[in-house]
Amino acid sequence: MDTASTGAYDAVRTAPRALATEAVHAGRDDLARQGLHAPPIDLSTTYPSYDSRAEAARIDAFAGDGADLAGPPVYARLGNPTVARFETALARLEGTETAVAFASGMAALSAVLLACAATGLRHAVAVRPLYGCSDHLLTAGLLGTEVTWTDPDGIAGALRPDTGLVLIESPANPTLAEADLRAVARACGPVPLLVDNTFATPVLQRPAEQGARLVLHSATKYLGGHGDVLAGVVACDEEFAGRLRQIRFATGGVLHPLAGYLLLRGLSTLPVRVRAASANAAELARRLAADPRVARVRYPRLGGAMVAFEVHGDPHEVISRVRLVTPAVSLGSVDTLIQHPASISHRIVDADDRRGAGVTDRLLRLSVGLEDVDDLWADLDRALGAPCERQGVEELREAVR
Ligand SMILES: *Cc1c(COP(=O)(O)O)cnc(C)c1O
Repeated sequence: MDTASTGAYDAVRTAPRALATEAVHAGRDDLARQGLHAPPIDLSTTYPSYDSRAEAARIDAFAGDGADLAGPPVYARLGNPTVARFETALARLEGTETAVAFASGMAALSAVLLACAATGLRHAVAVRPLYGCSDHLLTAGLLGTEVTWTDPDGIAGALRPDTGLVLIESPANPTLAEADLRAVARACGPVPLLVDNTFATPVLQRPAEQGARLVLHSATKYLGGHGDVLAGVVACDEEFAGRLRQIRFATGGVLHPLAGYLLLRGLSTLPVRVRAASANAAELARRLAADPRVARVRYPRLGGAMVAFEVHGDPHEVISRVRLVTPAVSLGSVDTLIQHPASISHRIVDADDRRGAGVTDRLLRLSVGLEDVDDLWADLDRALGAPCERQGVEELREAVR
């Protein structure tokens, strides 16, 4: 390619692009020039190099600041070109300098906590509810973290000189509680704010634009979007990413290249999936709210494809009666899933802490997929059971208490 046409190409590539365009093209900008259409999957664990002096210099550079290796890869635990495409694409969607992918959402969170601990900042401030295992990782102190739980208004007062991180989910798993992220970011001052953006996705919310330094995803959910890949990712600035890459290299929680490929493919339909599933979810939330068998519905102001609701009757009975909807943990797939957080996703959280965060024993969490909304409603309607007797009994019990 001559210089003039390369220049024209670069000018087009760097022009600002809408989210839907980035979703389809980010991480793939070099493909056409290489004569490719689908991204290649590089399964190499190691890479040949005849110049070990240059290799040594590149390894020294990585040990210094964790910057992405210039030139060819060295070893798969340091980085992989297929995974890098996904990282590039996700960073574009979240509006951050870069992103670092991991083997799971929990591996991503572990790396962030280790990166803080490595600088001696072991104290974290966190807002409940968080995803059950995130809560557990902080509370159990497995990585040496000491946590102060608070609500958004209490963040500024909970900060200490050794606070390395503030964590929040919005909308939160599973109650869909929402926070004003700009206000939260202000309350953090210079302490890095991590927003778990798994539920909203960059389609509905870009926390970095609101002051979050770290945006975490369980990519297992909407980013992959088809229930067939386990992954995590942190979108952030280059400086923090360098620390995360060094932790990833040292602890080995890397994402497999096949997973990187599936995630890149998942991103291309993310805006379409999230909007279509959100429309279904908003309609189901409306119908649930109007149903006398349902005590309470939570649906985020932001929108999204998650609905949480409390039933008057026994939530375990509802789970046992669904047929089209799948009774299963996880979320963000093309098909609709339902689960009982107090029994499954948040079981690992101490019962009092769980209830204190609004995760009641009657709460059900619905991850709405892309099926026809009337078919979904027909299944839920049947699963909610016969209206009056059950509800009557429960209300009687409630009254007696
Ligand atoms: C599932 C989930 C996680 C954990 O991600 P894994 O990919 O299962 O390790 C973290 N945060 C939220 C909000 C989740 O829903």
